[in-house]
Amino acid sequence: MKYCFGIDLGGTTVKLGLFDTEGTVLDKWEIKTRSENGGANILPDIAEAVKGKMEEKGINTADVVGAGIGVPGPVTNDGYINKAVNLGWNERFNVEEKLSSLLGVPVKAGNDANVAALGEMWKGGGAGAENVVFVTLGTGVGGGIIIGGKIVTGSHGAGGEIGHIVINPEEKKRCGCGKTGCLEQYASATGIVRLARKKLLDFNGETVLQMESVTAKDVFDAVKAGDAAAIEVAEEFGRYLGYSLSIVSTLVDPSIYVIGGGVSKAGEILFDYIKGPYMEKAFFANEEVEFALAELGNDAGIYGAAKLVLQ
Ligand code: ZN
Repeated sequence: MKYCFGIDLGGTTVKLGLFDTEGTVLDKWEIKTRSENGGANILPDIAEAVKGKMEEKGINTADVVGAGIGVPGPVTNDGYINKAVNLGWNERFNVEEKLSSLLGVPVKAGNDANVAALGEMWKGGGAGAENVVFVTLGTGVGGGIIIGGKIVTGSHGAGGEIGHIVINPEEKKRCGCGKTGCLEQYASATGIVRLARKKLLDFNGETVLQMESVTAKDVFDAVKAGDAAAIEVAEEFGRYLGYSLSIVSTLVDPSIYVIGGGVSKAGEILFDYIKGPYMEKAFFANEEVEFALAELGNDAGIYGAAKLVLQ
């Protein structure tokens, strides 16, 4: 039997998975991400965790085809990362070479959102499709584009950064990226809260939404209960996201959009607000597209990372 490892490197934890080469997860576990000292311990910690698991399971290096790793920052096709602020990494270096030299097996690296997209295409909400766009609606808006079964990485490792499509050129407030009017400012969990607070300023009817404490979950719970203010917020969210995805379709023409991240826990009701605006703006040849919820949750990253080395 041959094995591989899928590693999802996040700002606070590293998720690791041991897989067989068919993509069955045999074991998964987590370690802490030690981002202090410029993140110098992170890769050695990961290497130690992987080697420890091999020892525990009696797996020889010769039986490991490789390890894949998703990293929270832009990663080029040849494995270079420029910067990963969450990890304390500020220098350009080759993640693949460094981890490979510590592990003694081949390593493939990718941007975390792109890697999660690959996982969802392989074993999740996009299974069976070759042209998949994955959108994560979490604290920010992440994206990953898979065309012909391959991640669209681009020249700078920044392909698929859907969250930074400028969808409102009139916006004055700055996005986390430093620019203004990005999709992330309206369709992330924090963006939805912002839309809700704006709505509450001039909403005169009855609503359960509270100015101070409102969350994205509150908004969609209230939508399900028929709350008028929440429905207006959801409509606004849906316009920004639906219009943005119609733009994405003109560029890469996917057969399916897979929506994940914390906000997607609201469920299929999201599509009631996204599909209308999407259809309103989509080029006619892009109208026939599916929308699905992500299925792998927090495991999308380890599955996608394993797939990186298996493909
Ligand atoms: Zn931005």
